[in-house]
Amino acid sequence: MSFKDLHLIKPIQKAVAASGYVEPTLVQQRSIPLILEGKDVIVSAQTGTGKTAAFALPILQKLYDKQDAPKKGKKIRALIISPTRELAIQIQKNFKTYAEFTNLTSLVVFGGSSIEPQIDVLKKGVDILVATPGRLLDLHKQDYINLDFIETFVLDEADLMLAMGFIDDVKKIERLCPQEKQTLLFSATIPFKIEELANTLLKDPERIDVTPTKSVAKNVNQTLYYVPKQNKIELCLHLMRNTIEGNVLIFRRTRNGVDKLEETLLKNGFSVNSIHGDKPQSERQTALNKFKNGYVKILIATDVAARGIDINELDNVLNFDMPGIPETYVHRIGRTGRAGHTGNAYSLCSADEKNYVKKIEQAINVQIPVVTDHPYPLDPKAEPVVHKRQGSKYKKGRKSEASKKKKKRWY
Ligand code: AMP
Repeated sequence: MSFKDLHLIKPIQKAVAASGYVEPTLVQQRSIPLILEGKDVIVSAQTGTGKTAAFALPILQKLYDKQDAPKKGKKIRALIISPTRELAIQIQKNFKTYAEFTNLTSLVVFGGSSIEPQIDVLKKGVDILVATPGRLLDLHKQDYINLDFIETFVLDEADLMLAMGFIDDVKKIERLCPQEKQTLLFSATIPFKIEELANTLLKDPERIDVTPTKSVAKNVNQTLYYVPKQNKIELCLHLMRNTIEGNVLIFRRTRNGVDKLEETLLKNGFSVNSIHGDKPQSERQTALNKFKNGYVKILIATDVAARGIDINELDNVLNFDMPGIPETYVHRIGRTGRAGHTGNAYSLCSADEKNYVKKIEQAINVQIPVVTDHPYPLDPKAEPVVHKRQGSKYKKGRKSEASKKKKKRWY
């Protein structure tokens, strides 16, 4: 999915591209269409998932589409409440970035800093206000803030808001806004108290959950490398030399692939063994034992050959080929990070495997962090490599029916 598929207007698409975003994150894919539709939403997502843009982009779009004549002066039409000033500053910074190619303005107000400059900007008028609860109520009491024109109300980090004792303030702020508005609630977790709050503040909300599913081991650091297919071996060698420490189980889809990679790694001086279905059981067992006992640091395997084998202290898993089935991914990476140890799961993804990554991310509810800083980056626009049929250009396809009939067979 691209930002275009989300039907974002040109000025926002331009800002998103200028920020270097290639495609929307999971939380953005799920939230943006619903917010644009005007729905109330409850989103469970952690910081780092791209959740700020998930509400900022559709809010900007809605404000942009519905603007009053400029001489009427700007009224605050979107209000974002954040529990901490650092977060509030961060949110407003994002709004400013995404609004670069629009005439929409934003302001952040928070306690512990001089109130006068904030009042000056408020007097001039802004479209979007990001605030911490205390300072917002303070400014409202002094009549510098009018919340009568709020169209969208966002509660960010609601669980933190609760933990910091801001819930009554939040309820008070909400009552100062018009009844008819869109409310968005973002929270890393949804404990009962947040559920209760949501029931009082939101109308018929849609739920979006992008917290990791329980099936994925928590103590596995997942990383994703986009790489052209023909550079996978080089990247694998690079990771072996520079990044991966300890032992590693490498998964390949085919037996042929396992053999090829083993040969290359051996040639490059690595101690490596492999297991796949073409090898006799005794040979597989020896390879496995050597790996388990630490004589060999690298084991390459197909999924079938690795089924059922148990390796207690596995430091790393490397998905040389991305599995097409999400459960296989979960199963593969679940071999590391066991018994209180932290493990690493590296995945190499070529252009033709991007769909697998999407399927995996949907299934595990996790946006796998992408490492872009490596020597063999994949051009984001790269198309899958299509293998042309081999053979002579003069001899198209198989023999014609006529020639088959002519042929005298010996049987
Ligand atoms: P957040 O979860 O909102 O704190 O965002 C985490 C980081 O992800 C921020 O640095 C954003 O700039 C960045 N980010 C947000 N959306 C995207 C995207 N679609 N692609 C790449 N980075 C993004």
